[in-house]
Amino acid sequence: MALVEATATELLQRLQTRQISAVELTQEYLQRIERVDGRVRAFLQVEAQSALERSARIDRRRQAGESLGRLAGLPVALKDVICTEGGRTTCASKMLAEFRPPYDAAVVERLKQADAILIGKTNLDEFAMGSTTETSAWAPTSNPWDLSRVPGGSSGGGAACVAARMAPLSVGTDTGGSIRQPAAFCGITGMKPTYGRVSRYGLIAFASSLDQIGPLARTAEDAALLLEVLAGHDPRDSTSADLPVPAYSQTVAQPLEGLTLGVVREHLGEGLDGEVEAAVREALRVYQSLGARVKEISLPHNRYAIATYYVIGSCEASSNLARYDGAHYGYRTDEPTMRAERAAQRQAGTGGKQTSDLDPPLVEMYRRSRAEGFGAEVKRRVMLGTYALSHGYYDAYYLKALKVRRLIRNDFDQAFQQVDLIAGPVTPTPPYRLGEKVEDPLAMYLGDLYTASANLAGITALAMPCGFSRHGLPLGLQLQGPPLEEERLLRAAAMYQTATDWHQRQPAGLD
Ligand code: GLN
Repeated sequence: MALVEATATELLQRLQTRQISAVELTQEYLQRIERVDGRVRAFLQVEAQSALERSARIDRRRQAGESLGRLAGLPVALKDVICTEGGRTTCASKMLAEFRPPYDAAVVERLKQADAILIGKTNLDEFAMGSTTETSAWAPTSNPWDLSRVPGGSSGGGAACVAARMAPLSVGTDTGGSIRQPAAFCGITGMKPTYGRVSRYGLIAFASSLDQIGPLARTAEDAALLLEVLAGHDPRDSTSADLPVPAYSQTVAQPLEGLTLGVVREHLGEGLDGEVEAAVREALRVYQSLGARVKEISLPHNRYAIATYYVIGSCEASSNLARYDGAHYGYRTDEPTMRAERAAQRQAGTGGKQTSDLDPPLVEMYRRSRAEGFGAEVKRRVMLGTYALSHGYYDAYYLKALKVRRLIRNDFDQAFQQVDLIAGPVTPTPPYRLGEKVEDPLAMYLGDLYTASANLAGITALAMPCGFSRHGLPLGLQLQGPPLEEERLLRAAAMYQTATDWHQRQPAGLD
């Protein structure tokens, strides 16, 4: 078996017992990226040199008998919304094409402390707004199972790189489904931790009350390993939970006894693709065969989740993205051109605007920088959010959405009094073709039906493979758990993975 086919947990063991060195492992992955990524395009940047240097340092320290961190020598890829000191962090936006953060995000600090090897930055939808990576300002990522299809998004590069064996682990973010949906589309395991579990310090904000960083991995066991390193209190993020982090990787293999899974009545049926539904129902049978009970429940307000999510998410985005004005951060319109155009317009006295109508140069600089720096989807969200927050509409949209958000959370609280976890689909359909939905934002937004409510409620949720469509495309199962019950979620997922082998399948045809 090729090295890159091993799981992170297996690789760590081989590193610890010195069957392989960190340099050898990093080289394997770099070669794999070289061979495969021209077609998948999961990476925006590969940090080959620094990864090899770090690996060599870790090998030397191991040789010297020093004690090493939790992930010593293991390559990890990062979604390109997570700040890395001195390295480019672009959010897949022209706006931040040249942005080099002056500091590391909290999760990057933690990964470095754990002696992980940061192997590169992965592609995403611009500012994490999207479901396919097609809104990336550079190029879309392809689904490793079928290169003509989307890998999901927004953490599509991160999911594709793990599925295509270009990194054993990657770090993504999930605001409305952006870890779980690409994990489902790429046939891997991805988890959105509870809001507050992982520090957002150094994560470039999209919607601050919804954003959460989490692991993308091949198995629940590997996700546990990575979450253990990412999670923990951080005073620099005021919403960070000041609670101890359980040793997820130590308990993940313990099956749960007397597990009761809730199945949401409204989730199986109308609007759900038949193949996804069949795979989810089969997964429930697997759980029953492992001793779990399945109980029907209702989340009556979930039908408002998409509308609520797109109001709150866009309002927060419009506020967070106001800082990109060409003056403080990132892209600035070309001023000599601007000046020349203004002069020409003034001279002609025509050309659209009258001289007296011209905006002051500063306002025009803001306007142009934003118009040229942002892509269409980001502009759509900013405009939607600005509108919903504006005088006269605030109560009808934003305030209303906050109230519905509370009802959605209440539904979950009630459900978790009756069941331990909720099981269901991640997405309404299998992965679709590149280009199929990108021109139709509403159709794209509807794909968040089963995922966005977990972010609104702040609970934890996980996606993992539970079958394949007749076209050989991965289908995902979602498990949702009460706040801070990541351990239960991971154990339930691992339990399923001991009884099935969907998570071991790998895309063919890339070699
Ligand atoms: N697809 C959702 C959106 O477009 C989710 C994005 C995310 O979780 N970052 O907003």
